[in-house]
Amino acid sequence: MNVTADLELCQGHQMCQFEAPDVFGYDGDADKVVLLDPHPPEGLREQVSRAVKYCPAMALSVIELAEMPAPNNEMEAHD
Ligand code: SF4
Repeated sequence: MNVTADLELCQGHQMCQFEAPDVFGYDGDADKVVLLDPHPPEGLREQVSRAVKYCPAMALSVIELAEMPAPNNEMEAHD
C-alpha cells in the first residue's frame, strides 16, 4: 500500500500520529504531518486505515500498489 498526505489540507491535528505512529510523524515547526513510511507493511494496514478515517482534514489517502496481488477487490461498503 502507498500512503499519501496532502499538506495543503493537513491542519496538524496529529490524529494520524496517534493512530499509526510508525507511519505518521509531526513537524511542530510546520504544524504538519510527516510521512515516516510512505509504503507501510500490510501489518500496519488497520492502523493506517484508522488514521485515514479519523484525519479531520481528510488529508490522508491510501493507494494500492499495482504490483500487489489483489485479494478481493469487489465493492466494499463504506459507512
Ligand atoms: S490527522 Fe490529518 S490533519 Fe492531523 S496531522 Fe494527520 S494528516 Fe494532518
